[in-house]
Amino acid sequence: MRLLLPLTLLLAAPAAAQEVSDADRLRHEQMLVLDTHLDTPSLFERPGWDFGDWHDYGWDLSQVDLPRMAAGGLDGGFFVIYTAQGELTPAGYSKARDGALMRGLAIQRVIAVNRDRIELAYTAADAARIHKAGKRIAYQSIENSYPLGGDLTLLSTFYRMGVRMAGPVHSKNNQFADSTTDKARWNGLSPLGKAWVAEMNRLGIIVDGSHSSDAAFDQLVALSKTPIILSHSGPKAMFDHPRNIDDARMRTLAKAGGVMQMNSLFLIAHDTSPERDAIEKRQEKWLDSSPAERRQLVADKTALDAKRAYTEADFETFMKSMLHAIAVMGVDHVGLGADWDGGGGLKGFDDIVGLPRITARLRKEGFSDADIEKIWSGNVLRLLRQAESHAAKQSR
Ligand SMILES: [Zn+2]
Repeated sequence: MRLLLPLTLLLAAPAAAQEVSDADRLRHEQMLVLDTHLDTPSLFERPGWDFGDWHDYGWDLSQVDLPRMAAGGLDGGFFVIYTAQGELTPAGYSKARDGALMRGLAIQRVIAVNRDRIELAYTAADAARIHKAGKRIAYQSIENSYPLGGDLTLLSTFYRMGVRMAGPVHSKNNQFADSTTDKARWNGLSPLGKAWVAEMNRLGIIVDGSHSSDAAFDQLVALSKTPIILSHSGPKAMFDHPRNIDDARMRTLAKAGGVMQMNSLFLIAHDTSPERDAIEKRQEKWLDSSPAERRQLVADKTALDAKRAYTEADFETFMKSMLHAIAVMGVDHVGLGADWDGGGGLKGFDDIVGLPRITARLRKEGFSDADIEKIWSGNVLRLLRQAESHAAKQSR
């Protein structure tokens, strides 16, 4: 978009700048701001892509890096170890396990290389300490527990690497749970999935219900000894999509002390055309593409976006979703998990640089700074503290 339409960008810039006053920006800077679903580790193995450098979405389709975190006032978040769902076989499990461990190692390497600017966080208290030291905060999470195979002891290994949040399943059913985008096999959690919840609680890892079927979500809330999170989800009241949840379940989640982190995806219908599919398939092969193929991909994607936008969802759509969640659940149960580098983003809001707009808008809506900071980090850190203190009461 930026490549072909620089004029639009120039014209839009003053209006966007007006939305965030200096006072709003200062407040945003002073708050501890976390996002609970950063898929950026999927870029950590890209040759030539350096988390420490500024990138432009219009050039490489990435949305998060250290300079942009600074520009958008994003203090940190949960960096995701994501695994695509594969075969439920011994061979499938070991391939997934190796992939997840390597992704975890890539996170360790990238944080170590940038140790003067970002630090791994292991406890809820680490966030304030690291923030005070002037560094960004890297928690870790698992999206799809498929790589554990049938071996729940692997959770301890990931815990020791720093994982403090995990979801059982992604877009297809697996050995632990039914996915919300697949046909019911277990009617919620499998027996192994129920044992997974107990092990998560024992270790002190936050249970993440995003991508779980409604039945699995209900069972996660009922079984978990500490409140669960939806790390990147949306309200069904916005758009009837399986990845969104209904108001009744949102109330159940809040009643159980849980938190829903607002997604930027599935807020309205998006482009599911074969042309879009083809572009996404090419994007998945980024690592194996030549520089010329990558340039062609970005050009083709830009042309398709100009012809038919992936989504018409913009900042206002997102705020409507967030304000709905706050109205239903209250400020103690809402946060941000916009799925950056995992398909997230809005029209005119391509990357994390625009985050101060959310603070500005919430202030305009009349929320106190204390409430806004709960949304930005207080709520998820409360969940982590609860997971920690529950684990501490048990033997390791
Ligand atoms: Zn996801």
